[in-house]
Amino acid sequence: MKIGFIGTGIMGSPMVKHLSEKGYDVTVYNRTQEKAEQLSMYAKVAKSIEEVSSNKDVIFMIVGYPKDVEQVSLEVFKYANKNTIIVDMTTSSPGLANHLYEMALTKELSMLDAPVTGGEVGAINGTLSTMVGGDETSFLKVKPLLESFSSTLLYMGKAGNGQRTKLSNQIAIAGALAGVVESLYYAQTLNLDLNLAHQIFMGGSASSNQMKTNGLKIINKDYEPGFYIKHFLKDLNLAIESSIKHLEVTTTVRNMLEKLVENNHENKGTQALILYYLDNLVI
Ligand code: NAP
Repeated sequence: MKIGFIGTGIMGSPMVKHLSEKGYDVTVYNRTQEKAEQLSMYAKVAKSIEEVSSNKDVIFMIVGYPKDVEQVSLEVFKYANKNTIIVDMTTSSPGLANHLYEMALTKELSMLDAPVTGGEVGAINGTLSTMVGGDETSFLKVKPLLESFSSTLLYMGKAGNGQRTKLSNQIAIAGALAGVVESLYYAQTLNLDLNLAHQIFMGGSASSNQMKTNGLKIINKDYEPGFYIKHFLKDLNLAIESSIKHLEVTTTVRNMLEKLVENNHENKGTQALILYYLDNLVI
């Protein structure tokens, strides 16, 4: 089976390694060519979307924003063979996923929206949770490929339902992360020992994945990106735009992230939400 893979960033690179280690024939393409070349031990490196899309059975993409998904997909549609399955793993818009699904059908292609959760660590360890929308027959064909880097993998139904599930997931993360940040800020302002407090939280009912990973990064003042502030802002905007009801907590966290982006923190990791307090950005 020949695979094309577009977008070799924080998430895409480890996914390519897993596919290659499972023995699949992978060709990669990235807008900044050097990032794709770093994978030359694992995959062939294409210089164009035409090259990565031609004569493939499955084409994956995990790029940045919905506009990137649209631009890349329209190019892929031009060059992919009939019956190719295109799998978009970017966190993107459910409406765009529907639109691209319909457009792919008119070109005798199949498109799945298959966003992932579990972060950089999940991608590196191959333990992502992957949610898929689109035709179930196409899902079953690509299931073994997705299993290369997923420990939870579910078919969620019609086109767009992968993205709808992912945005629900991001809403949960917004609340959990905001809670962790405010808790540690409160503890810090009262001069508690943060490392001891963190051990207490992790041993009891405040324990969570956000507390475990981002909590420790906050205590260590490590703001390196595993998941970018700019991408989290994109996700919460997509959730708010696609919701039929007002989302109070999501809107509050979205406004905090907007303030951080205005203050040039967009390329930091989401744990830098604490800077909303530490930099006195409070509205
Ligand atoms: P990233 O490191 O910025 O990776 C995105 C990659 O896609 C970059 O290498 C970028 O190339 C490439 N790209 C973007 N637009 C492109 C285009 N038009 N044509 C070709 N290549 C293009 O970001 P990431 O953290 O891997 O996240 C990727 C997506 O997954 C985002 O939608 C994010 O929200 C989502 N996601 C992230 C995480 C996480 O924890 N990091 C978890 C789940 C989902 P350049 O090098 O030229 O910018």
